[in-house]
Amino acid sequence: MATATVVELPLETYKGPVEPDWCPGCGDFGVLRALELAAQKLRLPTKDLFIVSGIGCSSNLPGFFHGYGVHSLHGRAVAVASGAKLANHDLHVVITGGDGDGYGIGLNHCIHAMRRNLDLTYIVMNNQVYGLTTGQASPTTEKGHKTKSTPRGNVEMPINPIALALVAGATYVARGLAGENKHLADLIAGAIQHHGFALVDVFSPCVTYNKINTHQFFRQRCYKLENEQGYDTTDFEAAMRKALEWDPKIPIGVFYRGEQLTYEDSEPALKKGPLVSHRLSMDKGLFEELMEEFY
Ligand code: SF4
Ligand code: MG
Repeated sequence: MATATVVELPLETYKGPVEPDWCPGCGDFGVLRALELAAQKLRLPTKDLFIVSGIGCSSNLPGFFHGYGVHSLHGRAVAVASGAKLANHDLHVVITGGDGDGYGIGLNHCIHAMRRNLDLTYIVMNNQVYGLTTGQASPTTEKGHKTKSTPRGNVEMPINPIALALVAGATYVARGLAGENKHLADLIAGAIQHHGFALVDVFSPCVTYNKINTHQFFRQRCYKLENEQGYDTTDFEAAMRKALEWDPKIPIGVFYRGEQLTYEDSEPALKKGPLVSHRLSMDKGLFEELMEEFY
């Protein structure tokens, strides 16, 4: 009897033909690397992976990765990814983008995809600033921080992505650090394997326009939840308490993992397999029946 061969794909499999043009030291390099490592760890064939982004420095990522991808519109990555997933729910759909794109203009899509528990992985490269447009305050800029658009200090409270994802209904909620490749790769692999909406918020410092939330800032403050004795990732209330921690110590790792039916599991139209493989034609009798009903 023939035995199945498990093929280990080299990391180069996932490298795109274009070299990233991010500033030297940008956290996004670490996130790209972690995504490559996660794909390798899961032995994902590139044909089964679809990466969608919006607009921003980090949203250039699909161009640097070998796989199917779409560089979509500002704030619309989750909407495009939702459509792709519903058309072919056999695909692993991964969304990549920044805090301005995802938690600003795109937040509405994000919340609704979470409450529907669509089986998507969303990696947000959170640098707490708008990088591509040269340093304005973003939805995650801390109160009081001086930026190009807040020269006297930001008067707004920042969004807390982890708490927001928890109350919106995401069923896998994690946070990583761009400088911790392997740890981040495990979080991303866990998110891709998770059946449901997964948010991986990543501290990915903008070395050019954010001189406060630097690599060093996070290295000094972050600690791993998996090293916390007794921390239970299925405990929603414990996750909320951890989500509210910030200075002086900031938790990273998996905050919460829950089991819920996904939108795809609940939608009758998807029960017969991916829409892309459905027969498009309709027999004459059914067509006439429908016409009669709507006439
Ligand atoms: Fe990265 Fe900031 Fe440079 Fe954009 S401007 S590539 S976010 S370091
Ligand atoms: Mg940003």
